[in-house]
Amino acid sequence: QSKSVQATEHTRTVCTYCGVGCNLDIASTNGEILAITAPYDAEVNQGHTCLKGRFAFKFYNHPERLDSPMIKREGVFEKVSWDEAYSYIAEKFKHYKDTFGPDSLAGISSSRCTNEENYLMQKFYRAVLQTNNIDGCARVCHSPTALGMQRTFGTGAATNSIEDLKYTNCIMVIGANPTDAHPVTGAKLKQFAMKSDNVSIVIDPRRTELARYATHHLALRPGTNVAVLNMMMFYIVKEGLVDADFVERRTEGYSEFIEELLSIDLDKLEAVSGVPREEVRAAAIAYASAANAMSFHGLGVTEHSQGTFTVMQIADLAMLTGNIGRRGVGVNPLRGQNNVQGSADMGVQPHQGAGYLDVTKPEVNQRYNQFYGSELPLHIGYKIPEMFEAALEGKLKSLWIIGEDVVQTDPNTQKVIRALQATELVIVQELFMTETAKYADVILPGASFLEKSGTFTNGERRVQAVRQVVEPIPGSKPDGQIIVEIMNRMGYPQPDYTPDGMLDEISQIVPFFAGIRWDRLGDNGLQWPVSPDGTDTKILHEKDFKRGLGYFEFHSWEESQEIKDHGQDYPYILTTNRELEHYNCGAMTRRTANEQILTSDYLMIHPEDASANRIADGDFVCLESPRGKVDVKARITDEVKPGVLSTTFHFPDIMVNNITSDVHDSEAMCPEYKVVAVKIRKTKGK
Ligand code: SF4
Repeated sequence: QSKSVQATEHTRTVCTYCGVGCNLDIASTNGEILAITAPYDAEVNQGHTCLKGRFAFKFYNHPERLDSPMIKREGVFEKVSWDEAYSYIAEKFKHYKDTFGPDSLAGISSSRCTNEENYLMQKFYRAVLQTNNIDGCARVCHSPTALGMQRTFGTGAATNSIEDLKYTNCIMVIGANPTDAHPVTGAKLKQFAMKSDNVSIVIDPRRTELARYATHHLALRPGTNVAVLNMMMFYIVKEGLVDADFVERRTEGYSEFIEELLSIDLDKLEAVSGVPREEVRAAAIAYASAANAMSFHGLGVTEHSQGTFTVMQIADLAMLTGNIGRRGVGVNPLRGQNNVQGSADMGVQPHQGAGYLDVTKPEVNQRYNQFYGSELPLHIGYKIPEMFEAALEGKLKSLWIIGEDVVQTDPNTQKVIRALQATELVIVQELFMTETAKYADVILPGASFLEKSGTFTNGERRVQAVRQVVEPIPGSKPDGQIIVEIMNRMGYPQPDYTPDGMLDEISQIVPFFAGIRWDRLGDNGLQWPVSPDGTDTKILHEKDFKRGLGYFEFHSWEESQEIKDHGQDYPYILTTNRELEHYNCGAMTRRTANEQILTSDYLMIHPEDASANRIADGDFVCLESPRGKVDVKARITDEVKPGVLSTTFHFPDIMVNNITSDVHDSEAMCPEYKVVAVKIRKTKGK
């Protein structure tokens, strides 16, 4: 007979999975979590959660949690004390820095970690090791968003909030599948799309769930976002739908932009995109005619060789039609991981320190030097792909990776593995023995979001309090504490990690955090920029852009190098996607009951392609790219068009990234996961 257990505590915190940032109410007793619900007064999620946030939490005390630091000796991991692990690491760091210089060391921080932990990690690399070789997972997801929006507007973050759906008449969702990847926001977008008076435009190669309800679905060939957006803007100009007053008052570069835009080759762009021009024209008129139009974009925009340019076009489209600076409009990237916005805000990128200050500017350098009491370098550090290249060239001696399974999630897996093998000291700070952790020389057991306090910043720039619910499992430590202890071991006097103390420090160096204090966050957080008196900001660019005037810059469509080089021999285009049940590498969700709902990656293939290759539903298909081969089970569906395939990379036994390409965005170096040239054949599987 089961005994009923009553919760003795309720703790309000923030979900660890996606960038929606849902508030959670965690019921616990005696250090055990009983259930998760959502508070009704949460501005982000109003009592709702998704399958991941509410139910996929049992990973936190899973028997496979790492429970001791380990050092690999003669190929075998040996458990060691924290003291021994710290001594080992500090000695090696000092040796590499003295012998090979600071740039022989690099770090990858984690969007799973709090703002305060990310701030500390970049501070450690910059102020203690004196290198700008620090980067994070934004590199492989939304780095083009940050760069593109900074170039056009001056600020690389969402202009508005999700609650603005109440004030808009039109949504444009491009390269995003929010009902799987951002489910609570996805549900709101679906509700919006289903109302008959509303206009919704979905631009996506797949007929996603949202596309099924959309007024306009432009099902383009992967890799042609730039072509379709140029066509849209062409028709807006031709139909006389430009907001001339907004363009005149608020922007620059328009005349050069328009000259190039009006000379696009519509026949060519229609042919390469596979979208009939009349469909594009109708969507363009709908977007430009709406009283208020909001755009939302995801990795189907950024994970392309022209990702940054596409983000700039989405921003151009908003400026062209005056959809900036008020309720119900704007450019709203759907940020992927829970704190990917925050990690970039905190300086986890090699070209900008905490607060997006340019590390190459002498006045910025002086400010950081004074604040950190150190001498920081003036040159930009390695981005993640450059770290791997440097490792393969023998220039990188050490890589410290926190909460990021680069072997499973970064493109061209075998190259990543070779890079880790070529690096003398790989430190992996993790919850589980991930595919990356297997290649570590030192393992440090970190803590989950339920075991620490700090802040996460969601995709709306909302800084929210993360509150500890249970003690870290024995043997592990909160990530911030580990970083502080290593800083101290290296001789840097960093005070102990406390969320209020850390926020006080951050607010002194990050201009848009000036008024953020732990005790001001309340239940619903604050949206940056926050002025010293604590006033936050719902809408960006109301009167001016951060850069003064918004900047129009034309970009013409270019075929991906992957297709140019390999399209002849590998005639199908594989694109990657996410499923509702799992999060990214699946290290957490695969250790919950969600594992039983979706048990493997699968391949979406159109019935015509399946028939041409004699593939039946459930057959294994060998996907071969210039990088390698993987076998994935087929699911025959017309969600994808003929010639286009789609699969996830949640499962390490399949390791889909063995075949993805390390072609990347020309500006931000975000890998092109969305355009992979492959050939296919039926196989028996493993
Ligand atoms: Fe968590 Fe995102 Fe689901 Fe909300 S929508 S519960 S933040 S995974």
